[in-house]
Amino acid sequence: MALIVQKYGGSSVADAERIRNVASRIARGRGAGNDMVVVVSAMGDTTDELIRLAHQLVDQPDEREMDVLLSTGEIVSSTLVAMSLKAMGYNAVSLTGLQAGIQTDTRYSKARITAIEPQRIRNELKKGNAVIVAGFQGVNTEMDTTTLGRGGSDTTAVALAISLGASVCEIYTDVEGVFSADPRFVPEAVRLETIGYEEMLELATYGAGVMAPRAVELGQVYEMPIKVASSMSDNGGTLICKEGSMELRNRVSGIAHDTNVAKIMVIGVPDRPGVARDLFEPLARANISVDTIVQNAGVDNITDITFTVARTDVVKALSIVEPVSKAVGAVRVSGDESLSKVSIVGTGMQNAPGYAARMFRALAEENINIQLITTSEIRITCIIEESRVRDAVRALHKAFEVEFQQSG
Ligand code: ASP
Ligand code: MG
Repeated sequence: MALIVQKYGGSSVADAERIRNVASRIARGRGAGNDMVVVVSAMGDTTDELIRLAHQLVDQPDEREMDVLLSTGEIVSSTLVAMSLKAMGYNAVSLTGLQAGIQTDTRYSKARITAIEPQRIRNELKKGNAVIVAGFQGVNTEMDTTTLGRGGSDTTAVALAISLGASVCEIYTDVEGVFSADPRFVPEAVRLETIGYEEMLELATYGAGVMAPRAVELGQVYEMPIKVASSMSDNGGTLICKEGSMELRNRVSGIAHDTNVAKIMVIGVPDRPGVARDLFEPLARANISVDTIVQNAGVDNITDITFTVARTDVVKALSIVEPVSKAVGAVRVSGDESLSKVSIVGTGMQNAPGYAARMFRALAEENINIQLITTSEIRITCIIEESRVRDAVRALHKAFEVEFQQSG
């Protein structure tokens, strides 16, 4: 008998039939004598629909009310899973984030978990209940509901697995695991048996939608293994865990892409101290996260500064940058909304020369223009036109195929 912590994503609980499927999977675990703690996301696109609804009423919904509103999506699915289990003859109870003891800081819509008091969960387990926890939510010191940011149910699940001392956190979704590239673009993409936290974190941050980056980070800090698998089958799965020996490290583990990218260029900026601060401070204050930043070497005391933001932030970002650019004496500002990022990720790239060259060659052979390039120790990212992203992912997958095979 073990303690099992599972999480089911929105697509796995999208309708009554799928909820019944989730309940029978939980019942199976319970029937085998395990203690079951199960985190659920909101059904299907509920969160998006609730956000849309709020914006139909007001431009800038009140933060506190918004978090309460969004938390209801997960409460709905948790109750339905619990009911369904009971109907199958199993004892079950649903708990909100508050009831589950998930305490957070006070940042609405992106709260961080500060502590978990799992006593209530333990008591319910002792009573023989399967415990179904509404994901993505907690409570702050004012006893107000907070939410953990989009995809936050993953974070709830990993945090609970850590707090309860589970040996693994199981994340069930609509794909069979983590793939070497998006299988919708690359039919030959292979499922990875295992992947290290660091690589998974880069893949998730650079567009692999399978897991929320924050949850991977949390798993890494506490060394909680995370298994990602399909809720529709018993096959496959990818284990995210601590890397094995150095020798077994993958060169390139996967290719990620992200189409939510816009570029802003500030052209003809005076090359003097303080300009970058004047540009980026107001963006930070407006909570706009800036990703790639490139500044050219100055010529004749003039330079260009280019950076990227999420496409969803570009209108706001331009409205901030334009007046600042005028004030510092830049020639002009231009924006381009239809860009994408493609990234190759692998711990084995560090200390192995030639990866960037191979990536650029693969893109050149497809006649894909690279607009910006950024790197970390284990990642190379190119920013390209969105219309070429599928071709780019395919070409890169082909160019690095040999290395995925080593990883199986
Ligand atoms: N329902 C929330 C979202 O869609 C949280 C989650 O699904 O993990 O972002
Ligand atoms: Mg969701």
